[in-house]
Amino acid sequence: MTATLSVDSLGAISVVSEQIGIDPQVVEDLVVANRILFNQGVVDAFGHVSVRHPGRGDRFLLSRNMAPGLVCAEDLLEFDMNAVAVQSDPPRQFLERFIHSEIYKARPEVMAVVHSHSPTVVPFTVSKSTPLRAVCHMCGFIGTQVPLFEISDEFGDGTDLLIRSAAMGASLARSLGQSDLVMMRGHGSTVVARGIREAVYRAVYTEVNASTQLRAVQLGEPHYLSDAEAKTAAKVMDSETQRPWGLWKAKALGL
Ligand code: MN
Repeated sequence: MTATLSVDSLGAISVVSEQIGIDPQVVEDLVVANRILFNQGVVDAFGHVSVRHPGRGDRFLLSRNMAPGLVCAEDLLEFDMNAVAVQSDPPRQFLERFIHSEIYKARPEVMAVVHSHSPTVVPFTVSKSTPLRAVCHMCGFIGTQVPLFEISDEFGDGTDLLIRSAAMGASLARSLGQSDLVMMRGHGSTVVARGIREAVYRAVYTEVNASTQLRAVQLGEPHYLSDAEAKTAAKVMDSETQRPWGLWKAKALGL
C-alpha cells in the first residue's frame, strides 16, 4: 500500500512561521516547492529551492542539507547574506548555499531561487554546438541566449564544479547577470524569479524545454522563438503560474 501524503505531512507550519516571523503561506509554499520539484523530476536527492524573507531583504530561507522530496517546515533554516544560518547550533547545511546568498545580494528584485541538476538540462550545459534556447511559448522566459557559467574561467582546472564559497557564488551571479536562468557547465542550472511559484514554474519548464529541444534537433534545425516572441510569451505565462502550481501541489502531496 502506498502511503498517502496530505497537507498535514508538511510539518508544523504555524510554529515555524512564528519562529521566523514570516507569513505561514510562505513557509507552506517553500515546503510544497521542495515536494513539487522532486515530484516533477527537477531535483532528485540533490538540488535546492530558497525564498527571500519577505520582511527582511537581507535574509533567506532554505532547508537544511537533505533531499528536497522529504522537506518539512521544521527543516527550514534562516540565512543571512553571508549564507550563515542565523539560529544557534544549526544542523548541516548545503555546500552550495552560496548560490542563493550571492544571487540575492546581486539581484534585489529576486525573491526565489531554484538550483538543480535536472537530467535533460545537463547535456545542454556541455554541448559546444547546441545551446539551450526557447522552443515553445511555455518557455519564453528562457529567451534566445542563456548565459553559461564556466567555473574554470575564474577557478581554474580541477574544481569539483560545485559552488563552495561566496567567491564562487558571486562569480555565478555575475554570469547570471540580468537573466532569469544560468546554465552551469557539467553541473546543472539555476533559475530565479519574483516568487516561489514562478521559480518552480521556471525550473519545471526549463527541463520541459530541454527535453522538447532535444527531440526537435533530431528532426533537423529547429525554428526557435524569436527574441520578441520569447519576451511576449514570457509576459503572458508569468501571470499563469497558479494553474500548474495547484495541479503540481495536488500531485506531489497525493491529494
Ligand atoms: Mn549543484
